[in-house]
Amino acid sequence: MTLADAQAFAVAQGWPRYRGEQAWRWVHDKGARSFDEMTDVGRANRAAFAERATIGGVQIAEVQQSRDGTRKLRLVTRDGSSIESVLIPDGEKTTQCISSQVGCAVDCQFCATAKLGLLRNLDAGEIVDQVYLARRLLAEQEPDRRITNIVYMGMGEPLHNYDNLVRSLRILTDQKGMALSQRRITVSTSGLVPKLERLGNEDVRPNLAVSLNAPNDAIRDEIMPINRKWNIGKLLAALRAYPLEQRRRITFEYVLLAGVNDALAHAAQVADLLRGVPCKVNVIPYNPHPEAGYARPSRAAVEAFQNECKRLGLPTYLRTPRGDDIDAACGQLANRVNGSPVVPLRVRRGPPPPPPVD
Ligand code: SF4
Repeated sequence: MTLADAQAFAVAQGWPRYRGEQAWRWVHDKGARSFDEMTDVGRANRAAFAERATIGGVQIAEVQQSRDGTRKLRLVTRDGSSIESVLIPDGEKTTQCISSQVGCAVDCQFCATAKLGLLRNLDAGEIVDQVYLARRLLAEQEPDRRITNIVYMGMGEPLHNYDNLVRSLRILTDQKGMALSQRRITVSTSGLVPKLERLGNEDVRPNLAVSLNAPNDAIRDEIMPINRKWNIGKLLAALRAYPLEQRRRITFEYVLLAGVNDALAHAAQVADLLRGVPCKVNVIPYNPHPEAGYARPSRAAVEAFQNECKRLGLPTYLRTPRGDDIDAACGQLANRVNGSPVVPLRVRRGPPPPPPVD
């Protein structure tokens, strides 16, 4: 529920509006996970809430800890679906990478989540609850650390689950709740053009990251089937029209796959494509996993690609792999514990499926 939903819920029960807000604040601001924790709500009212409502959409099933401090949480929903979320400490900052779907339909060829297929969308409660569980975990284990940034880069394509994405953004940024700054939230998309256009008109304005990963349509068609529906030209036209707020830039993610998209000529094509777009490029050396037959380029090839982008005027940064020893790095999320999947991965036979419909 958003705050307005909670107030309306209270009124619908014949209660004063403020009682809905009181309970909502306990959940979203103070992190309560049961009505019994709401000490300033009368006992009878707590019982009345408990008869009519529930708190929390997911539970932590496992926490895996990387040697670099990254933690991967495997979370289980009420219907037994498994999703993952990753906590990445970086100095004083802690970024949480959250999931928006159980699996994913987009089928990027280098991504382990794609091999799960799409099981279902997460509802807004299941999306925000990933953050609240991590907030509680940090409060218990590292009281000096708090979540400073959220990235929608876990399992799923957030714009495929548009309404729940926007609802979750409204909840997380509500000043009476967790009050995260919109500037500290990034939504990453593979490029669902119609939904990008819609997002630009919302009252919540997260940062935008776009998985580009290819310098031209031929390569992008191959590694990201969504490109066959919305190609690079359509994607960039939508991004050029996107109403970016002042001093904000679009982040383009570029997973470097050895021998596929990592040539210096590809860097030049990328620089041509992005000329005039306020942006930066995050180069991500491919994180290997058993389901995809790609390889990470050598360190020299990665540096050469990055330097060429920079030389051509593109602000380009190298994303250091985090948590790759626990399958928590970019592109590796597939509900694996100690290297083995806890839910079966889809094994594809025959040609790739058609690109997803909007
Ligand atoms: S990279 Fe993202 S959009 Fe592509 S298949 Fe993986 S989870 Fe889905």
